[in-house]
Amino acid sequence: MIPRSDFILRLCYLSLCFVFIACFSSQHITRKPAVIQEAEGGKSEESGDKQEIAFDIWKDNPEDFYAIVGDTPAPGEPVTVIFLPARDNEAASPARLSLVSKSGRRLGGAAFFDWTLDDEGRAVRACVFAVPSTFDDGEAIIRAGDTDIFELKIKERVFASEEIPLNPGNTALRTVPDPRKTAESERLGAILARSGPVVYTTGPFTPPVAADTRRTSFFGDRRVYLYSNGKSAPAVHAGIDYGVPSGTPVRSCAPGKVVLASERIVTGNSVVIEHLPGVYSIYYHLDKIYAEEDAAVDTGDVIGLSGATGLATGPHLHWELRVAAENADPDILCARPLLDSEAAKKIINERGEHIYAGL
Ligand SMILES: [Zn+2]
Repeated sequence: MIPRSDFILRLCYLSLCFVFIACFSSQHITRKPAVIQEAEGGKSEESGDKQEIAFDIWKDNPEDFYAIVGDTPAPGEPVTVIFLPARDNEAASPARLSLVSKSGRRLGGAAFFDWTLDDEGRAVRACVFAVPSTFDDGEAIIRAGDTDIFELKIKERVFASEEIPLNPGNTALRTVPDPRKTAESERLGAILARSGPVVYTTGPFTPPVAADTRRTSFFGDRRVYLYSNGKSAPAVHAGIDYGVPSGTPVRSCAPGKVVLASERIVTGNSVVIEHLPGVYSIYYHLDKIYAEEDAAVDTGDVIGLSGATGLATGPHLHWELRVAAENADPDILCARPLLDSEAAKKIINERGEHIYAGL
Protein backbone atom coordinates (compact mmCIF):
# COMPACT_ATOMS: atom_id res chain seq x y z
CA MET A 1 0.00 0.00 0.00
CA ILE A 2 1.09 3.57 -0.62
CA PRO A 3 0.72 5.70 2.53
CA ARG A 4 -2.11 8.23 2.38
CA SER A 5 0.26 11.20 2.77
CA ASP A 6 2.38 9.88 -0.06
CA PHE A 7 -0.73 9.45 -2.15
CA ILE A 8 -1.80 13.06 -1.58
CA LEU A 9 1.70 14.30 -2.34
CA ARG A 10 1.66 12.44 -5.60
CA LEU A 11 -1.74 13.88 -6.47
CA CYS A 12 -0.37 17.38 -5.84
CA TYR A 13 2.65 16.66 -7.91
CA LEU A 14 0.60 15.33 -10.77
CA SER A 15 -1.75 18.29 -10.66
CA LEU A 16 1.23 20.57 -11.23
CA CYS A 17 2.16 18.79 -14.40
CA PHE A 18 1.22 20.33 -17.68
CA VAL A 19 -1.34 18.55 -19.76
CA PHE A 20 0.91 16.59 -22.01
CA ILE A 21 0.39 16.25 -25.66
CA ALA A 22 -0.54 12.63 -26.04
CA CYS A 23 0.72 11.83 -29.43
CA PHE A 24 4.00 12.01 -31.16
CA SER A 25 2.48 12.85 -34.49
CA SER A 26 -1.07 13.65 -33.72
CA GLN A 27 -2.28 13.91 -37.28
CA HIS A 28 -2.70 10.16 -37.50
CA ILE A 29 -4.11 9.46 -34.12
CA THR A 30 -7.60 9.81 -32.84
CA ARG A 31 -7.55 9.81 -29.12
CA LYS A 32 -9.99 7.58 -27.40
CA PRO A 33 -11.75 8.90 -24.32
CA ALA A 34 -10.37 7.36 -21.20
CA VAL A 35 -12.27 4.48 -19.75
CA ILE A 36 -12.66 5.90 -16.29
CA GLN A 37 -12.05 3.34 -13.63
CA GLU A 38 -12.18 3.54 -9.91
CA ALA A 39 -8.73 4.24 -8.58
CA GLU A 40 -7.06 1.25 -7.05
CA GLY A 41 -4.35 3.31 -5.39
CA GLY A 42 -1.34 1.23 -4.61
CA LYS A 43 -2.91 -2.16 -5.15
CA SER A 44 -0.26 -4.66 -6.08
CA GLU A 45 -1.00 -7.31 -8.64
CA GLU A 46 1.24 -9.56 -6.58
CA SER A 47 3.55 -10.46 -9.43
CA GLY A 48 6.51 -9.36 -7.38
CA ASP A 49 7.37 -7.16 -10.33
CA LYS A 50 7.71 -3.45 -9.62
CA GLN A 51 6.34 -2.72 -13.07
CA GLU A 52 3.06 -4.31 -12.15
CA ILE A 53 2.29 -2.08 -9.19
CA ALA A 54 -1.01 -0.55 -10.09
CA PHE A 55 -1.15 2.96 -8.79
CA ASP A 56 -3.34 3.78 -11.69
CA ILE A 57 -4.20 7.44 -11.38
CA TRP A 58 -3.25 7.67 -15.07
CA LYS A 59 -6.43 5.81 -15.93
CA ASP A 60 -8.46 9.01 -15.58
CA ASN A 61 -6.44 10.84 -18.23
CA PRO A 62 -4.16 8.42 -20.03
CA GLU A 63 -3.43 10.93 -22.78
CA ASP A 64 -1.57 13.00 -20.18
CA PHE A 65 0.84 10.24 -19.41
CA TYR A 66 1.61 8.43 -22.65
CA ALA A 67 3.29 9.19 -25.95
CA ILE A 68 3.51 6.87 -28.91
CA VAL A 69 6.12 6.47 -31.64
CA GLY A 70 4.80 4.63 -34.67
CA ASP A 71 1.18 5.63 -34.78
CA THR A 72 0.25 4.12 -38.15
CA PRO A 73 2.34 0.95 -38.19
CA ALA A 74 2.17 -1.70 -40.87
CA PRO A 75 2.19 -5.39 -39.99
CA GLY A 76 5.74 -6.22 -38.94
CA GLU A 77 6.45 -2.72 -37.67
CA PRO A 78 7.49 -1.98 -34.09
CA VAL A 79 5.65 0.53 -31.92
CA THR A 80 7.16 2.31 -28.92
CA VAL A 81 5.00 3.69 -26.14
CA ILE A 82 6.56 6.09 -23.64
CA PHE A 83 5.15 6.65 -20.19
CA LEU A 84 5.65 9.98 -18.40
CA PRO A 85 6.58 10.91 -15.79
CA ALA A 86 9.12 8.21 -15.42
CA ARG A 87 11.10 9.05 -12.35
CA ASP A 88 8.11 8.40 -10.17
CA ASN A 89 8.38 4.75 -11.06
CA GLU A 90 6.86 2.96 -8.19
CA ALA A 91 3.82 5.10 -7.80
CA ALA A 92 2.87 5.56 -11.40
CA SER A 93 3.95 2.48 -13.24
CA PRO A 94 1.34 1.25 -15.67
CA ALA A 95 0.55 -2.36 -16.31
CA ARG A 96 1.75 -4.15 -19.40
CA LEU A 97 0.39 -3.08 -22.76
CA SER A 98 -1.64 -5.08 -25.21
CA LEU A 99 -2.72 -4.47 -28.79
CA VAL A 100 -6.29 -5.31 -29.78
CA SER A 101 -7.41 -5.57 -33.41
CA LYS A 102 -10.82 -4.62 -34.78
CA SER A 103 -11.76 -8.30 -34.84
CA GLY A 104 -10.86 -8.64 -31.18
CA ARG A 105 -7.51 -10.35 -31.60
CA ARG A 106 -5.42 -9.41 -28.62
CA LEU A 107 -1.68 -9.46 -28.22
CA GLY A 108 -0.54 -8.95 -24.71
CA GLY A 109 2.43 -8.96 -22.49
CA ALA A 110 4.67 -6.10 -23.59
CA ALA A 111 6.20 -4.82 -20.37
CA PHE A 112 7.43 -1.35 -19.44
CA PHE A 113 11.07 -0.85 -18.53
CA ASP A 114 13.26 2.05 -17.40
CA TRP A 115 15.05 3.88 -20.18
CA THR A 116 17.72 6.42 -19.25
CA LEU A 117 17.95 9.01 -21.99
CA ASP A 118 21.18 10.86 -21.27
CA ASP A 119 24.05 11.49 -18.87
CA GLU A 120 21.89 13.94 -16.95
CA GLY A 121 19.88 10.98 -15.79
CA ARG A 122 16.70 11.93 -17.54
CA ALA A 123 14.60 8.83 -17.90
CA VAL A 124 11.24 7.62 -19.04
CA ARG A 125 9.53 4.27 -18.97
CA ALA A 126 9.17 2.65 -22.35
CA CYS A 127 7.36 -0.31 -23.81
CA VAL A 128 7.97 -1.79 -27.26
CA PHE A 129 5.92 -4.27 -29.22
CA ALA A 130 5.56 -5.31 -32.85
CA VAL A 131 2.48 -5.63 -34.99
CA PRO A 132 2.61 -9.24 -36.23
CA SER A 133 2.76 -9.80 -39.99
CA THR A 134 -0.60 -11.57 -39.72
CA PHE A 135 -2.40 -8.78 -37.83
CA ASP A 136 -5.61 -7.22 -39.16
CA ASP A 137 -5.20 -3.88 -40.88
CA GLY A 138 -7.45 -0.96 -39.91
CA GLU A 139 -8.44 0.22 -36.46
CA ALA A 140 -6.69 -1.16 -33.41
CA ILE A 141 -6.41 -0.19 -29.77
CA ILE A 142 -3.49 -0.10 -27.38
CA ARG A 143 -4.63 -1.10 -23.94
CA ALA A 144 -2.79 -0.70 -20.64
CA GLY A 145 -4.24 -3.28 -18.30
CA ASP A 146 -7.95 -2.92 -19.04
CA THR A 147 -7.79 0.77 -20.02
CA ASP A 148 -7.72 1.90 -23.64
CA ILE A 149 -4.96 4.49 -24.06
CA PHE A 150 -4.57 4.93 -27.84
CA GLU A 151 -6.41 4.19 -31.01
CA LEU A 152 -4.16 3.58 -33.95
CA LYS A 153 -4.53 2.48 -37.51
CA ILE A 154 -2.68 -0.51 -38.90
CA LYS A 155 -1.66 0.02 -42.53
CA GLU A 156 -2.44 -2.58 -45.13
CA ARG A 157 0.56 -4.63 -46.22
CA VAL A 158 0.71 -7.39 -48.80
CA PHE A 159 3.18 -10.22 -48.38
CA ALA A 160 4.60 -12.56 -50.99
CA SER A 161 3.52 -16.19 -51.34
CA GLU A 162 5.75 -19.19 -51.95
CA GLU A 163 5.54 -22.96 -52.08
CA ILE A 164 8.35 -25.03 -50.64
CA PRO A 165 8.57 -28.72 -51.57
CA LEU A 166 10.14 -30.80 -48.79
CA ASN A 167 11.94 -34.12 -49.22
CA PRO A 168 11.08 -37.03 -46.87
CA GLY A 169 13.75 -35.99 -44.36
CA ASN A 170 12.54 -32.40 -44.08
CA THR A 171 8.91 -33.56 -44.13
CA ALA A 172 9.66 -35.75 -41.11
CA LEU A 173 11.35 -32.83 -39.30
CA ARG A 174 8.12 -30.87 -39.53
CA THR A 175 5.55 -33.60 -39.06
CA VAL A 176 6.88 -36.37 -36.80
CA PRO A 177 6.14 -35.70 -33.12
CA ASP A 178 9.23 -35.75 -30.94
CA PRO A 179 9.41 -34.93 -27.22
CA ARG A 180 12.79 -33.26 -27.75
CA LYS A 181 11.26 -30.99 -30.38
CA THR A 182 8.50 -30.05 -27.94
CA ALA A 183 11.03 -29.34 -25.17
CA GLU A 184 13.12 -27.17 -27.50
CA SER A 185 10.07 -25.26 -28.58
CA GLU A 186 9.01 -24.66 -24.98
CA ARG A 187 12.47 -23.48 -23.94
CA LEU A 188 12.66 -20.99 -26.82
CA GLY A 189 9.11 -19.79 -26.20
CA ALA A 190 9.93 -19.11 -22.54
CA ILE A 191 13.06 -17.16 -23.50
CA LEU A 192 11.26 -15.01 -26.05
CA ALA A 193 8.45 -14.23 -23.61
CA ARG A 194 10.93 -12.90 -21.05
CA SER A 195 11.39 -9.19 -20.59
CA GLY A 196 14.59 -8.46 -18.70
CA PRO A 197 15.51 -5.04 -17.35
CA VAL A 198 18.65 -4.32 -19.40
CA VAL A 199 18.73 -1.98 -22.40
CA TYR A 200 21.86 -3.21 -24.24
CA THR A 201 21.06 -1.11 -27.29
CA THR A 202 18.43 1.27 -28.56
CA GLY A 203 19.00 0.34 -32.21
CA PRO A 204 19.06 0.56 -35.12
CA PHE A 205 20.24 -2.96 -35.86
CA THR A 206 22.83 -4.06 -38.45
CA PRO A 207 22.23 -7.05 -40.77
CA PRO A 208 24.22 -10.16 -39.72
CA VAL A 209 25.74 -10.55 -43.20
CA ALA A 210 26.41 -7.91 -45.87
CA ALA A 211 23.24 -5.88 -46.31
CA ASP A 212 23.14 -6.44 -50.08
CA THR A 213 23.31 -10.24 -49.78
CA ARG A 214 20.80 -12.01 -52.02
CA ARG A 215 17.65 -13.00 -50.18
CA THR A 216 15.93 -16.31 -50.79
CA SER A 217 12.91 -15.63 -48.56
CA PHE A 218 11.44 -12.48 -47.10
CA PHE A 219 9.81 -11.37 -43.87
CA GLY A 220 6.16 -12.37 -43.71
CA ASP A 221 6.15 -14.66 -46.74
CA ARG A 222 3.01 -16.76 -46.80
CA ARG A 223 4.39 -20.25 -47.26
CA VAL A 224 2.89 -23.56 -48.17
CA TYR A 225 5.08 -26.54 -47.32
CA LEU A 226 4.51 -29.35 -49.83
CA TYR A 227 5.24 -32.57 -47.97
CA SER A 228 6.71 -35.65 -49.62
CA ASN A 229 3.55 -37.59 -48.68
CA GLY A 230 1.39 -35.34 -50.85
CA LYS A 231 -0.04 -33.30 -47.97
CA SER A 232 0.70 -29.64 -47.38
CA ALA A 233 0.68 -27.10 -44.55
CA PRO A 234 0.58 -23.30 -44.46
CA ALA A 235 3.16 -21.26 -42.52
CA VAL A 236 4.34 -17.69 -42.25
CA HIS A 237 8.04 -16.95 -42.65
CA ALA A 238 9.11 -15.02 -39.58
CA GLY A 239 12.44 -13.59 -40.75
CA ILE A 240 14.75 -13.04 -43.70
CA ASP A 241 16.65 -15.86 -45.44
CA TYR A 242 20.01 -14.82 -46.85
CA GLY A 243 21.37 -17.09 -49.58
CA VAL A 244 24.91 -17.28 -48.23
CA PRO A 245 27.21 -20.27 -48.80
CA SER A 246 28.08 -22.47 -45.82
CA GLY A 247 30.94 -21.07 -43.77
CA THR A 248 29.96 -17.40 -44.12
CA PRO A 249 30.65 -15.47 -40.87
CA VAL A 250 27.41 -14.51 -39.12
CA ARG A 251 27.61 -11.40 -36.97
CA SER A 252 25.58 -10.12 -34.04
CA CYS A 253 23.19 -7.44 -35.28
CA ALA A 254 23.56 -5.31 -32.13
CA PRO A 255 25.03 -5.34 -28.62
CA GLY A 256 23.39 -7.84 -26.31
CA LYS A 257 23.66 -11.04 -24.33
CA VAL A 258 23.57 -14.56 -25.79
CA VAL A 259 20.61 -16.36 -24.23
CA LEU A 260 20.58 -19.51 -26.37
CA ALA A 261 23.37 -21.23 -28.32
CA SER A 262 22.49 -24.83 -29.08
CA GLU A 263 21.60 -27.41 -31.67
CA ARG A 264 17.85 -27.74 -32.23
CA ILE A 265 16.00 -30.35 -34.29
CA VAL A 266 14.07 -28.05 -36.63
CA THR A 267 16.27 -24.95 -36.72
CA GLY A 268 19.67 -26.66 -36.52
CA ASN A 269 22.51 -24.86 -34.80
CA SER A 270 20.78 -21.82 -33.36
CA VAL A 271 21.74 -18.61 -31.54
CA VAL A 272 19.42 -16.17 -29.78
CA ILE A 273 20.63 -12.81 -28.46
CA GLU A 274 18.75 -10.50 -26.08
CA HIS A 275 19.13 -6.80 -26.98
CA LEU A 276 16.68 -4.94 -24.81
CA PRO A 277 13.71 -5.95 -22.68
CA GLY A 278 11.63 -8.38 -24.74
CA VAL A 279 13.69 -7.85 -27.93
CA TYR A 280 15.71 -10.74 -29.38
CA SER A 281 17.57 -11.61 -32.58
CA ILE A 282 17.59 -15.19 -33.82
CA TYR A 283 20.06 -16.96 -36.15
CA TYR A 284 19.22 -20.45 -37.51
CA HIS A 285 20.78 -23.29 -39.54
CA LEU A 286 24.37 -22.40 -38.60
CA ASP A 287 27.15 -24.77 -39.54
CA LYS A 288 29.15 -23.77 -36.45
CA ILE A 289 28.27 -21.85 -33.30
CA TYR A 290 30.97 -19.62 -31.80
CA ALA A 291 28.77 -17.76 -29.31
CA GLU A 292 28.41 -18.98 -25.75
CA GLU A 293 25.32 -18.65 -23.62
CA ASP A 294 25.44 -15.74 -21.15
CA ALA A 295 28.30 -14.08 -23.06
CA ALA A 296 28.10 -10.39 -23.95
CA VAL A 297 28.32 -9.58 -27.65
CA ASP A 298 28.76 -6.38 -29.59
CA THR A 299 27.60 -5.36 -33.04
CA GLY A 300 29.61 -7.26 -35.65
CA ASP A 301 30.94 -9.99 -33.35
CA VAL A 302 31.05 -13.29 -35.24
CA ILE A 303 28.64 -15.64 -33.44
CA GLY A 304 28.98 -18.55 -35.88
CA LEU A 305 29.25 -19.68 -39.47
CA SER A 306 26.26 -20.12 -41.75
CA GLY A 307 25.20 -23.57 -42.88
CA ALA A 308 22.23 -25.80 -43.65
CA THR A 309 21.56 -27.60 -40.36
CA GLY A 310 18.01 -28.47 -39.33
CA LEU A 311 15.13 -27.98 -41.75
CA ALA A 312 16.88 -26.36 -44.69
CA THR A 313 16.59 -26.98 -48.40
CA GLY A 314 20.07 -25.52 -48.95
CA PRO A 315 22.71 -23.38 -47.24
CA HIS A 316 21.30 -20.09 -45.99
CA LEU A 317 21.06 -17.90 -42.91
CA HIS A 318 17.65 -17.40 -41.35
CA TRP A 319 17.67 -14.13 -39.37
CA GLU A 320 14.68 -13.15 -37.29
CA LEU A 321 13.81 -10.41 -34.79
CA ARG A 322 11.27 -10.72 -32.00
CA VAL A 323 9.75 -7.84 -30.11
CA ALA A 324 7.54 -8.75 -27.13
CA ALA A 325 7.37 -12.29 -28.54
CA GLU A 326 6.08 -11.18 -31.96
CA ASN A 327 7.98 -11.23 -35.25
CA ALA A 328 9.17 -7.82 -36.34
CA ASP A 329 10.39 -6.79 -39.79
CA PRO A 330 14.23 -6.71 -39.63
CA ASP A 331 14.42 -4.10 -42.39
CA ILE A 332 12.44 -1.64 -40.28
CA LEU A 333 14.59 -2.29 -37.21
CA CYS A 334 17.70 -1.68 -39.32
CA ALA A 335 16.29 1.57 -40.66
CA ARG A 336 15.50 3.36 -37.41
CA PRO A 337 16.16 3.09 -33.68
CA LEU A 338 13.68 1.14 -31.64
CA LEU A 339 14.14 3.65 -28.84
CA ASP A 340 14.69 7.12 -30.25
CA SER A 341 16.23 9.18 -27.44
CA GLU A 342 16.06 12.41 -29.45
CA ALA A 343 12.35 11.89 -30.00
CA ALA A 344 11.81 11.13 -26.33
CA LYS A 345 13.76 14.23 -25.26
CA LYS A 346 11.70 16.32 -27.64
CA ILE A 347 8.55 15.03 -25.98
CA ILE A 348 9.94 15.88 -22.55
CA ASN A 349 10.92 19.37 -23.67
CA GLU A 350 7.55 20.00 -25.28
CA ARG A 351 5.66 18.81 -22.27
CA GLY A 352 7.63 20.76 -19.72
CA GLU A 353 11.04 19.74 -18.53
CA HIS A 354 10.30 21.12 -15.08
CA ILE A 355 8.39 17.94 -14.48
CA TYR A 356 11.67 16.11 -14.22
CA ALA A 357 13.49 18.64 -12.07
CA GLY A 358 13.90 17.72 -8.47
CA LEU A 359 12.35 14.30 -8.72
ZN1 LIG B 1 13.97 -18.70 -42.94
